[in-house]
Amino acid sequence: MDQKLIDSLKERARDVRLGIIDALGIDHRGHLGGSMSCADIVAALYFYKMNTSPQLKDDPNRDRFIMSKGHSVLAQYAALAELGYFDKSVLATTKSFGSLLQGHPERSTPGVEANTGSLGQGLSIGVGMALAGKADKRGYHVYAVLGDGELAEGQIWEAAMAANHYSLDNLTAIVDMNGIQAQGRTNDRYRINNIPGRFAAFGWKTFEIDGHDMGEIVWALDEASMVKGAPTAIVARTVKGKGVGFAENSHAYHNNLLTPETRSQAIASVKAM
Ligand SMILES: [Mg+2]
Repeated sequence: MDQKLIDSLKERARDVRLGIIDALGIDHRGHLGGSMSCADIVAALYFYKMNTSPQLKDDPNRDRFIMSKGHSVLAQYAALAELGYFDKSVLATTKSFGSLLQGHPERSTPGVEANTGSLGQGLSIGVGMALAGKADKRGYHVYAVLGDGELAEGQIWEAAMAANHYSLDNLTAIVDMNGIQAQGRTNDRYRINNIPGRFAAFGWKTFEIDGHDMGEIVWALDEASMVKGAPTAIVARTVKGKGVGFAENSHAYHNNLLTPETRSQAIASVKAM
């Protein structure tokens, strides 16, 4: 593993986390916890794995990213701003009336490929994009980031069956398995054990990793893109709120606000990572 690459991606992930705090602003409710838990994954996709950039945003061969757990779009906005899809100053306007950046992903935002936020739909959109890629004989890869709470949506498993039926090896689902959803622990709300085994039972090639270990993320993304004949699922063990000490492992900051004081604490916490 190239340690310089890993170190630079960790730096990018820190920038993504600071961008999330920027987008959250002060005294505005927003989805801190789930954005932070997928920040390392989003950084690895945008700054390492995916063939995509502002110059390629209309290129039919670009890789596709779908934030199926749409409320965590702050992580995607932060990455898109870093890459220059729009100016970083736009982050601070997130969720204000008329802003380019709304609380859930919309295709009107440069770099956003799918409207999501109604949970469970993003993987089906990904199946459609992957099928289109096969039909058009294009080499692009589709990545969909799912929440573990989101897996309670039945549509996820219809998409899982379809992806297997059509042997969509150009589709990778990444489950941000932080064990927590909006109102509590995922297993208390709707018990879903053995997520890798469930995807495997649907014919997917699965990988289980530490979703905050950049080396493991890079390894799994590389392995997944080499699999032939089956869709791939990367199940990433993560910590909700990762990087913001007072928000870690709690549903209190699933959708919550930062005061001037807690915002300063959050920034210091991320910088100390
Ligand atoms: Mg979750």
